[in-house]
Amino acid sequence: MCSFQNPDNRISILQMNSDLEHAQLELLGAHCAVHQLRLRYSSDDLARFGRRDVLHKSAEAAASLHKFYAAIEDKVPNAAPIPPVPQPSAEQIAQAIEWLAGYLREQREHYFPLATPLTNEVKARMWPFFSADLLDGIRIIELRGARVRVPEFFAKVRALGFEPPQITHMDSVTFLDIVAFNQSLSERALFHALVHTVQIDVLGLQRYAELWVHGFLKTRTHFTVPLEVHAFSLSSKFLHPMPERFSVEDEVVRWVADGRY
Ligand SMILES: [Zn+2]
Repeated sequence: MCSFQNPDNRISILQMNSDLEHAQLELLGAHCAVHQLRLRYSSDDLARFGRRDVLHKSAEAAASLHKFYAAIEDKVPNAAPIPPVPQPSAEQIAQAIEWLAGYLREQREHYFPLATPLTNEVKARMWPFFSADLLDGIRIIELRGARVRVPEFFAKVRALGFEPPQITHMDSVTFLDIVAFNQSLSERALFHALVHTVQIDVLGLQRYAELWVHGFLKTRTHFTVPLEVHAFSLSSKFLHPMPERFSVEDEVVRWVADGRY
């Protein structure tokens, strides 16, 4: 019997694919952490000064993951080669930057009348990391499953052979000084979103959109765009059980000065 016709098997295939996607997301998280390491330190320094046991265990884990997935890929019947992604023209890149900046501005205006300030309790959790001025100016909206609007230009981006980020699956989306939560506020998602607000403040919206688009063209995944890598890594620092106090603005200014975006 064909396994797809058996409802029980259909459910387990759905479950398997959901588990597969979950593992892929975790891998992208690991990819993002390693990418950051690579940006910061040379392989020579890591080899010389890195803790040997940690290096050894990391290399072992990466090799065993590679072995596992490569063996599965070998079994995929008639695996069609993934077509190379065409390089967009300078005009297309400029257009994508305009689309992104326009979308962020427009959604900011859309949500502004409904958005509310942060509560004092939330501000108190965030103040060791962000300035009081920034926290006072932020407005938030909890969509509780209604989800932010997928921009129309995503279809055009897809037609060019790129897979745009799945913004309806993100916990939060930053529209300049407005943070929209697809579900409800979580500290991790708020922190991540506020890092983007600081990046936009420091860089200006136009430069932020330029760096985001160029980073995406270079790395092809949302998680490895340097602006995102920084937001992910600072929010994990914040979530550390005993977080050290640090200024997100100083961190962002440092990354801008070092040309790391
Ligand atoms: Zn982000």
